[in-house]
Amino acid sequence: MKLRQTPRETRSIPGKVYLVGAGPGAPDLITLRAAEILKRADVVFHDALVHPNTLLLAQNAEKIAVGKRCGKHSTAQRFINKRLVDAARKLDTVVRLKGGDPMLFGRAQEEIAALRAAGIDYEVVPGVTAALAASAGLNVSLTQRGIARSVTFVTARVGTGEAANNWAASAAQADTAVIYMGVGQAAEIAAALSAAGVPAATPAVIVENASLPQERRFALTLSELPHAAGLALSGPALIMLGEVFATAQEIAAIADASLALAAAS
Ligand code: SAH
Repeated sequence: MKLRQTPRETRSIPGKVYLVGAGPGAPDLITLRAAEILKRADVVFHDALVHPNTLLLAQNAEKIAVGKRCGKHSTAQRFINKRLVDAARKLDTVVRLKGGDPMLFGRAQEEIAALRAAGIDYEVVPGVTAALAASAGLNVSLTQRGIARSVTFVTARVGTGEAANNWAASAAQADTAVIYMGVGQAAEIAAALSAAGVPAATPAVIVENASLPQERRFALTLSELPHAAGLALSGPALIMLGEVFATAQEIAAIADASLALAAAS
């Protein structure tokens, strides 16, 4: 790693690592606190999804992409943990910049554990998670009064060596369910939700690239979800389910996309 600051091989006091939420995509959906930390960062280890303009906030930092590839998560994660610890032993301000909120489906706990074990100081700076950006873009409250009192953020993805859990039961029990990292497995997800008792006619939306100019929204029902593969999405996307999506004014606006979906299926 190239160091901009004078390298200090053995610092008596290590630097600090900030686990920072970059927000869902749009570069201005970041907190002032995060922007201030990025401004004084010496190095930024960032996810692939972080917008290039967000990285510009870290004007003096070396920027290092640490995107992970599916199937190689645990090795890559251990390597990232080590790089954070090593960087903090040499530099004052180390940032681990993650899409959305760092604590939601972001492996933050593993990084925190590694930093604690190494005696490195750290701090978490929250960010706007993708579900909330999608809700804003749709103008649909996930907890619309009279319709939804509970929201669940779930993923069906199970890491290597991890026990499968009953994510579908949690999604079925919540009034509104937001499924992260799910579009690639839409057919399996739809089957699991049906088996958990979610009615076939349950309204759903798929939101791709929430908060970005290229955001796309598709209205559908659970029974149509298996066809989501036909949408040929290229950006990150969420599957959202629940009655709140049926009563939304925005459904009219996204009906065209539904027709496109039907045509593709
Ligand atoms: N920590 C992140 C989530 C990381 S998991 C957060 O809080 O948002 C990565 C998944 O998040 C993607 O597979 C996708 O399901 C979702 N995601 C991230 N950014 C998104 C965006 N702009 N629009 C829609 N979904 C997004």
